[in-house]
Amino acid sequence: MNNPDTTRRDEIAAGLTEVERRIAAACAAAGRARQEVTLVAVTKTYPASDVRLLSALGVAHVGENRDQEAAPKARECAGLPLTWHFVGQIQTNKARSVVSYADVVHSVDRPRLAEALSRAAAGAGRRVTCLLQVALDDDPGRGGVVPSGVAALAEAVAASEGLVLGGVMAVAPLGGDPGRAFARLAEISADLRTDHPEATVISAGMSGDLDHAIAHGSTLVRVGTALLGRRKPFVR
Ligand SMILES: *Cc1c(COP(=O)(O)O)cnc(C)c1O
Repeated sequence: MNNPDTTRRDEIAAGLTEVERRIAAACAAAGRARQEVTLVAVTKTYPASDVRLLSALGVAHVGENRDQEAAPKARECAGLPLTWHFVGQIQTNKARSVVSYADVVHSVDRPRLAEALSRAAAGAGRRVTCLLQVALDDDPGRGGVVPSGVAALAEAVAASEGLVLGGVMAVAPLGGDPGRAFARLAEISADLRTDHPEATVISAGMSGDLDHAIAHGSTLVRVGTALLGRRKPFVR
């Protein structure tokens, strides 16, 4: 038991078991099949060695939120059977780097970013699935398009070379009722699917509120803390 990697593996395995139990319980309570919900392990601030352990435990999707951290980590983990998700805000000058490893970008919230991602994806011969991040609290500080802007942004993404419109993403407003927020996101998703039936992804739910999100139709949960432990405060 003195092997630190064995200990870390056991910690992550225990976190994964508990997260899987919560997802299964929330699906059962909502009358949904477990396979309707994808688990993305958010590995920000944790090392590539943790990504390897997650992969060995059967996790197939990982998420990151800062390009400076994600790019080298994805390179170190090249060869593992992983789908990489980018869940943080993106400056347009980072589009080329993000597109080099990310299969899914959850944070598309403005036409200029869609344009930059499209140019980068087309240049690299990649197809990137884009989720439209919706601001559910009218607080643009955390990113996101306001609900009334979703339809136009969806058209822009759907018409862009190299981009695939996948669906919507949101973070529940701080201090608000997550159930209400996720119900609103479900309505926005339903509206989007009248014009774009293929855009079925609803990326919603984190460690604290994944149960509420699954109750309201989330098809993808983004979980960090509950799998890997509390992150140290980030210092830039
Ligand atoms: C960090 C992060 C998560 C994971 O949050 P936890 O509360 O640690 O599960 C999910 N989504 C986004 C956009 C994040 O930045």
